[in-house]
Amino acid sequence: MSDQRPRILTGDTPTSTGLHLGHYVGSLENRLQLQDRYDCYFLIANVHAFTTLAERPDDIRANTLGIVKDWLAVGLDPDRSTFVLQSEIPAIAELTFLFAMLLPFNKVMRNPTLKTEIETKGLGDSYPFGFPMYAVGQCADILAFRPELVPVGEDQEAHIEMCRDVALKFNQLYCGVGNRVPAAEHAQAGGVFPIPSAKIGRVARLVGTDGTNKMSKSLNNAIFLYDDPKQVQKKINGIVTGRASPTAPIDPRHVLLQYADAFLPAERAKEIRSMYAEGREVMDGHVKAEIGGAINTLLTPMRERRARLETPEGEGVVLDVIRRGIRRANAVAEGTLLAAKTAMRLNFGSRVIQ
Ligand code: ATP
Ligand code: MG
Repeated sequence: MSDQRPRILTGDTPTSTGLHLGHYVGSLENRLQLQDRYDCYFLIANVHAFTTLAERPDDIRANTLGIVKDWLAVGLDPDRSTFVLQSEIPAIAELTFLFAMLLPFNKVMRNPTLKTEIETKGLGDSYPFGFPMYAVGQCADILAFRPELVPVGEDQEAHIEMCRDVALKFNQLYCGVGNRVPAAEHAQAGGVFPIPSAKIGRVARLVGTDGTNKMSKSLNNAIFLYDDPKQVQKKINGIVTGRASPTAPIDPRHVLLQYADAFLPAERAKEIRSMYAEGREVMDGHVKAEIGGAINTLLTPMRERRARLETPEGEGVVLDVIRRGIRRANAVAEGTLLAAKTAMRLNFGSRVIQ
C-alpha cells in the first residue's frame, strides 16, 4: 500500500457482545476524528478474548461480529481504515514470541494494568499462562503495524509503555540504534520500529455505573452502545447518590457529576456542579433524566445504524469487511515481520499470505 499518512493502531477485545460508553469517550471518539489524517488500523483482539473466555468460543465469535457492528454503527469507515482480525494475522503471533525474549518475566508480572485486571476480574491465581502473555501480545499487535499513535483509555498506559520498551530494545539490539538516540528519532536512525505514543481520549477513565470501577464490559457496570433508551435510563436511575435531602451535598467526584461532564454541554455540567456545591435544591431524578436523555441522543443514530446490521444481509456486510481487512492487514504486518526477521538475522526465506 502506498498510503503515506502516519499510522494509528488501536483495538478492542471481544469479551462481550459490544462496546460501551467508556470505549466511546476513551477511544472511539478519537478514532473517528483521526480517520482522515491517519492510516488507521483497528484491531479486534479475538485471540486475547480467550485469555478469560477459553471455554466459550461461540460467544467470542458472536462478540467479534458485535464489535465490528458497533464500529460501523459509530462511524468507523472500512474504506478509509483497516479492520484487523487478530487471529488471521500470523505475523502478530510470531512477533509475540520474538518480543517475549525482550521483556523480563518479572516486569511483565508487575505490569499495573495486568494486576488491576487480575483483581477486578477476580482471576485469583488460577488464570492461564496466556493471560499475562496477552500484554506481550499487545506489543506485537501494535508494533506489527508500526504506528505513531495508539488512541486508548488511561488503563492502557502501562501496556503502551511496555510496547515502547520493546521497540526501543529491539531497535538497539538488532538495528544498531544507539542508546542515546531519542525515541522520536529511532525510525530515522535505522530502527525497524517507530516508538509509538499513547493518545488518551477526552475522558481518560470513564467510571462505571457502580460509581467506583472503570466502566468495563466484564464488570456489569457498563452502558452499552446498543442498550435501548429505557435500559440506558434505568442504568442511570440506578446510580446511588445516597443524599438525605435535595439540598444535601454530593462528592464532586461522584459518578453522576462525571457523567454530566462527559455527556452534557460544558456550561450545563458546570451549572449542575455549582447547584450541588452551593447546597441549592436539586432533584437527583431530574439530573439523571437529563443525563440519560443526552446519552440517548448520542446513541440513537448509532443504535439505528446497528439495527440495520442485525439482519442476514448485515451479517454478510460485516464478514466482507472483516475479510477485506485481513488481506490489507497481512500485507502490512508481513512487511514488518520480514523487516524484523531480517534485523534478527532470521531472513532465510520469504512467503506470501493472501
Ligand atoms: P475488559 O473488561 O474485557 O478488559 P474493557 O471494557 O476494559 O474490557 P477493552 O477492550 O479492554 O475494554 O478496551 C478497549 C479500549 O477502550 C482501550 O483503549 C481502553 O483503554 C478503552 N476503555 C475501556 N474502558 C474504558 C473506560 N471506562 N474509560 C475510558 N476508556 C476505556
Ligand atoms: Mg480492558
